[in-house]
Amino acid sequence: MIEVQQLTKRYRNTVAVNNISFSVTEGQTLVLLGTSGSGKTTTLRMLNRLIEPTSGTIFIHAKNICSQPPEVLRRSMGYVLQGYGLFPHYSVAENIAVVPKLLKWPQQKIQKRVDELLQKLQLPPEEYRNVYPAALSGGQKQRVGLARALAADPPILLMDEPFGALDLLTRAAVRKEFKELDELKKKTIILVTHDVQEAFELGDQIGLMDKGKMQQLASPAELLFYPANGFVREFFNQHRFQLEWQSVCLKKIWNDLPEVRNHMNATLSSDQTLWHAMEEVANHDTDVYAFDEETGSARHVTFECLKIAIQKQKQQG
Ligand code: ADP
Ligand code: MG
Repeated sequence: MIEVQQLTKRYRNTVAVNNISFSVTEGQTLVLLGTSGSGKTTTLRMLNRLIEPTSGTIFIHAKNICSQPPEVLRRSMGYVLQGYGLFPHYSVAENIAVVPKLLKWPQQKIQKRVDELLQKLQLPPEEYRNVYPAALSGGQKQRVGLARALAADPPILLMDEPFGALDLLTRAAVRKEFKELDELKKKTIILVTHDVQEAFELGDQIGLMDKGKMQQLASPAELLFYPANGFVREFFNQHRFQLEWQSVCLKKIWNDLPEVRNHMNATLSSDQTLWHAMEEVANHDTDVYAFDEETGSARHVTFECLKIAIQKQKQQG
């Protein structure tokens, strides 16, 4: 779907992006993770030709993006800017309608789409349609920015620190909503963030960048259990405990848990994470059980078993 080959962007004194390659398959989310200045924004902007690469090639749907006019390319991608990037003198509805207007949609179709998106993003249209950005909270502005990117239903979404301007609590809540939004489930997404927790929650694949280079591109669990080098290992050290428990599902350690016959009292399912299971155990005075739909089997979940299982995972890594 998106194929990036040996992409480089050089400025006079810096190599902002240094020979990186990656691909994203349709419907997947790639997170580009890295500290400030690691080249994330530059990479994203080269994908929709806001910046022209010094060298390297980008294919989208097997087509070299340089072979089409930037305006046509940009119509196939929604872009959520760092900050909120809303036009202050446009109402909420006008902000969302920017791309459909460029595409010359009939007025009625635009209105219908705007209201549909506002509804889906929990901003009742009657209340918010005609409001200006200054009157919105951070979380609400973020949703309008997302609605604008989604307006013409592009197959690809590029997002630059989309939750970066929100406080921690709002952030976690908006991220949860974001994950559950049906409009996003089929999109191919490249999301840029410096937030490790966010990367692990949202990424199918994570590309960890440093000084313009891709240090490792892998699934969240691979980054933790099979780091490619010392930089990758150290990058996650501060969050390691929580991330490890969040990146492994019960299913993965199913056979390390004691089998039980009766699953009538199961409160967990096998596709939930060890972190979730640990919370469940901590919050219950009684025994906790998990059920696996696929095999119809059940397991007894205890803190001790979880601990042993994750240690086994680490030794295999
Ligand atoms: P990130 O988004 O990861 O914080 P950027 O992609 O914005 O990083 O920047 C990567 C590096 O390239 C930084 O060192 C930045 O200073 C440099 N850079 C970005 N844009 C320009 C520019 N227009 N001119 C010169 N240097 C730039
Ligand atoms: Mg940036």
